[in-house]
Amino acid sequence: MSKFKELGKPEEFWDYFEQISKIPRCSRFEERIRNFIKEEGEKFGFKTTIDKAGNLFISIPAKSTEKEKLILQCHMDMVCEKNDNVLHDFSKDPLKLKVIEINNEKWVTAEGTTLGADNGNGICFLLTIMKKINDGSLNFNSLSLELIFTVLEEYNLGGAKNIDKSLVKGNMLINLDSGGDGMVTNGCTGGIGFIADIKTKPISVDNLKDNLNPIKLILSGLTGGHSGGDITRGRGNANKLLSHILWKIGKNYSIHINSINGGNAANAITRESNAILYIKEEDFAEIKSFTNILIKELKKNYEEVEKNMHLSIERIESKINATVFSEEIQKKILDLLYIIPCGPLSLHPKIRIFAFASTNLGILKTEKDYIRIRMLHRSFSEYYNEKTCEEVITLLKMSGLEMTRTITGYYPPWEPNFDSKLLKLAKESYSELYNKEPLVILVQGGLECTLLINIHPEMEAIAMGASIRDMHSPNESLQVSSVEKTWNFLLRILQKLD
Ligand SMILES: [Zn+2]
Repeated sequence: MSKFKELGKPEEFWDYFEQISKIPRCSRFEERIRNFIKEEGEKFGFKTTIDKAGNLFISIPAKSTEKEKLILQCHMDMVCEKNDNVLHDFSKDPLKLKVIEINNEKWVTAEGTTLGADNGNGICFLLTIMKKINDGSLNFNSLSLELIFTVLEEYNLGGAKNIDKSLVKGNMLINLDSGGDGMVTNGCTGGIGFIADIKTKPISVDNLKDNLNPIKLILSGLTGGHSGGDITRGRGNANKLLSHILWKIGKNYSIHINSINGGNAANAITRESNAILYIKEEDFAEIKSFTNILIKELKKNYEEVEKNMHLSIERIESKINATVFSEEIQKKILDLLYIIPCGPLSLHPKIRIFAFASTNLGILKTEKDYIRIRMLHRSFSEYYNEKTCEEVITLLKMSGLEMTRTITGYYPPWEPNFDSKLLKLAKESYSELYNKEPLVILVQGGLECTLLINIHPEMEAIAMGASIRDMHSPNESLQVSSVEKTWNFLLRILQKLD
């Protein structure tokens, strides 16, 4: 018997966890893990189907008459990351599992690589269910199960996006790729990616009458973070704060903007942003002391949260053939950037630690004759997400600037249903087992299951899973005790549905 089987309960889980850790399953290379799961399903006598996108479906009928059909879902792929000093070929090498102790708790981790507990814990829970139904230690009389194993979750959600909708059958869904012990996920935000390319109609600096010199402002040292999960932490967005500063300088001094640049990703809170301006030499000292006062003010407003915020303002070498935004356009752009929304827009009416709607001015990028604004709107409500999008477009139209606009991506929110039967059952189940209510959480980011849930608007759903730390990193670990707790929790819900 392998030592993993003895690690905790259910032993089938740990046996499977060890087995799948030997099967390479990086995103886009799910074939081998899919075959393994499919063969297990067929061995146990269940019907398996693979759709065009590569997702695997396994149907487990109720023993007698079906009264309820439940979808259980997880993803097959994993993030493949390793430490630089580790030799590991993710296309063939097995993960080297080991057990570590953190604060007297056992955790499983992999030596130098990601563990794939995201979403290996989901895979193993479903394999365990199949095995136990087959050997008769688990029975469902009126509950039939539809197991869905998706591909490409960590790559681009491609499996869920292109899933064969006709195979997603069930009026309830439990996703096993969220949470941690003691938590039940009850919704996630939808997202709308947005780009506007605003014409700057650049003119040559040499055509301006005054003798102008370039300076560079760099706003740096901000914390940044995920534009979903970290949006209510009060952090500053460098693009937005630099826009404040430029607007105020522009109001008091004659400036000519050559460029504004900041951020690399729409879904990250911008940590650093810079601008190159042409100014009159005699204004330099004054602009410098003016911005020093501004930054002091900003720092006061972000006390504690943005301790390392720093603004530098330096003279730089003049570039040959340098251009600046035409004057009228510059004013409009500065006005627009000053008032364009960024950050939380409203709080969730029921759970006020979450933003109901938010947006993030993730990227500002100056190109030859336009400046690109890239945003990501999020909301738990389809209505509010559309509203944010419409508000921004209205604002852009009102600016009178010439531009092209593009919606770069969209996925629907999983709108929380606090009155769902499934959530009620989950709360009851956890309370009965562990004498306390589970924490109902919402995810400020996109979960793949939102794409499945939205196929049938009346579908009830929750998400859950064992406790994982440092997901997507070589320190990724799975808490042993949380596996048994999550298993008992899941089982209790299934038994109540039966
Ligand atoms: Zn995952």
